Amino acid sequence: MPRSYVHEARRRVGPKRARIRPIIERLAVEHADAAIALKFTSPLELLVSVMLSAQTTDVNVNRVTPALFAKYRRPQDYLAAPAEELERDIHATGFFRQKTKALRGTMKMLIEEFDGEVPRTIEELVRLPGVARKTANVVAAELGTPQGIVVDTHVRRLSQRLGFTKQEDPVKIERDLIKLVPREDWGRFPHLLIWHGRRICDARRPLCERCVINDLCPSSRV
Ligand code: SF4
Repeated sequence: MPRSYVHEARRRVGPKRARIRPIIERLAVEHADAAIALKFTSPLELLVSVMLSAQTTDVNVNRVTPALFAKYRRPQDYLAAPAEELERDIHATGFFRQKTKALRGTMKMLIEEFDGEVPRTIEELVRLPGVARKTANVVAAELGTPQGIVVDTHVRRLSQRLGFTKQEDPVKIERDLIKLVPREDWGRFPHLLIWHGRRICDARRPLCERCVINDLCPSSRV
């Protein structure tokens, strides 16, 4: 897109600080069902689901976890079974050796340092083996204590298209979003962008004509 066109588009929609609230409000109406797709019933199940979701789909994880969670109820259970058995039980989520190692390391630390409970702060969560910032952000947000903004492929693409960031690196994108998005919306904001990305703002073929925020988007094609 030529620079002058981009400049004109940004001028047309106005500054991002003025657009952020109406964008969140309209997306919240449009995607009232936007929520994490992973299925879990406890903080431990949430943590395991998010760890398993690396490099695979939430649907895939949800296929594996009912049997897994019926068998492994406490952190100790993940350590009591032989590693090969856990590897078999999570095989369908891919990267099963790596994930088994991360799960067992995490369970060990939960027992030794956190009384078997899932911690709530990002600083503590990222100390768990195999838990990166994105996983920690998802877990903290779902536990009701968001301390950052989850940046996945949809959040990155939509934030760029909406002119909220020019960055490519997820950590830098998160930094831009934290300055822009009201704190009370840190938890739901990524869900709204993820669902809007899946349903409307597709990577290859965005349906701008059906988009409820097309008058607020500098990348709109209508
Ligand atoms: S107007 Fe188009 S590019 Fe902008 S958010 Fe909507 S679908 Fe995506």
